[in-house]
Amino acid sequence: MARSGSEHVHVAIVGAGFSGVGAAIRLRQAGIHDFVVFERGDEVGGVWRDNRYPGCACDVESPLYSYSFAPNPEWSRMFSPQGEILDYVRRCASEFGVLPHVRFGHAISEAAWNPATKRWQLDGPRGQFTADVLVAGMGALSEPWVPGFRGIERFEGPAFHSARWDPDAALDGQRVAVVGTGASAIQIVPRIQQRVGQLRLFQRTAPWVLPRRDRAFKPVERQLFANLPITQKLLRVGLYLRHESLVLGFRNPSIMRVVQRQALRYLHHQIEDPQLRERLRPDFTLGCKRVLLSDDYYPALAQDNVELVSAGIRELVSNGIVDTEGRLHELDAIIWATGFHVANPPFAKHVRGRSGESLAEVWRGSPTAHLGSMVAGFPNLFLLTGPNTGLGHSSMLLMIEAQLELLLGVLRELDGREAVTVEPDPAVQARYVDQIDRGGKGTVWTAGGCASWYLDQTGRNSTLWPWSTHAYMRRAKFERGDYVVDGV
Ligand code: NAP
Repeated sequence: MARSGSEHVHVAIVGAGFSGVGAAIRLRQAGIHDFVVFERGDEVGGVWRDNRYPGCACDVESPLYSYSFAPNPEWSRMFSPQGEILDYVRRCASEFGVLPHVRFGHAISEAAWNPATKRWQLDGPRGQFTADVLVAGMGALSEPWVPGFRGIERFEGPAFHSARWDPDAALDGQRVAVVGTGASAIQIVPRIQQRVGQLRLFQRTAPWVLPRRDRAFKPVERQLFANLPITQKLLRVGLYLRHESLVLGFRNPSIMRVVQRQALRYLHHQIEDPQLRERLRPDFTLGCKRVLLSDDYYPALAQDNVELVSAGIRELVSNGIVDTEGRLHELDAIIWATGFHVANPPFAKHVRGRSGESLAEVWRGSPTAHLGSMVAGFPNLFLLTGPNTGLGHSSMLLMIEAQLELLLGVLRELDGREAVTVEPDPAVQARYVDQIDRGGKGTVWTAGGCASWYLDQTGRNSTLWPWSTHAYMRRAKFERGDYVVDGV
């Protein structure tokens, strides 16, 4: 029974990024129309709506970083910029009829399974809802994280996270710090270096950087993509196979030494100053952290107005950052390119299962889920891009689409057999997690000698799928015997 005053839907999807919009499209295609997408923002796009920093683009080629069912002949470049990716998600949401299902400005702040009604109860500032099935599409990289440096509140200039870019902040000719050298920072640095007066780049760990070799698609290629769609499909297959083959290197760190030699040659070629080169030389196995692709990062660092700071950050003061060597870096603005809450996603505190415990309480800092999607004790909850579905080597869209097929399998079970609840058998889930843990042993992610966001506070890889995407696609099928199905 619905709570009085609350609206009931069959499926509630939270988040309208690539995964939430994809879920909505696949539901409609499967003939399921009783669903709502709750989106806290005022448009679709998820991370591609939120990340608007200069230089923001995808580091996976666009023909592969798109839905398989919606090829886009309009991509301007091999690695298209954020604006085009956002337009693509918007267009897909519109053309596939998703938009009428989306409630914009509707954050869901609490979700609790009600064992009496066998429904999810959803609460948010805009009201209460109930749902038979809850699909969490909030994304793994949606909650910005800024380290709690001493005195952070003292700094008087603009200071903002890369994913909360302030377009009004005056950076031209100013003394600006970028903190962090991950995938976001290496896109930002080359773009602001020409505008700012002085750039201080705070590097804690030197990343591995390989050339991106981006290029614009020629008009003739775009015409071919539009008029002969098989050509874009073939390109996608080629890119897919190239990315899939990379997994061999990630699983066998010795292979990565060959790629490291290529990366070091690239560093030597780009940076003349031997001292700077030495400070930019990574000290872990390539692939242990996300491999960064850039054609303009090293050239930007070689410019006179850029200083690489390898000392740590001791504290912030009103006019800058004091490093661990006691040097004051006077600054007008600070950009935190310091990443996201990943292994400890804030939403986990707010999703409560049958026992009343939250996901965060059950996970205790190390998220696990059967097939990265469903959790014992949390009936009818489906996590998109959940634990161990991330990738270090290919397009997340491949994993999202495989998960969506699994979701449809779960919904077919519920709708076709008049079942009320589905959740993984705890023993099956435990066996699966054990396989994942064993599969990750010896890979570059766990044995590569780095501290990355792929590893959680217990040191476990709870983020990445440790095999090929093909292996996940084969695995992510609904097998009835692996689940506890109630109400048949
Ligand atoms: P990130 O990879 O987590 O990088 C955060 C950076 O901040 C790291 O260099 C880290 O140093 C540094 N940092 C963190 N705490 C620090 C501290 N206390 N003092 C100094 N430095 C500190 O974050 P991100 O660059 O935003 O990227 C996150 C993920 O988003 C990527 O891995 C990728 O999956 C995705 N992304 C994708 C694209 C794309 O093109 N598709 C673009 C941007 C982001 P350490 O290395 O020492 O930890």
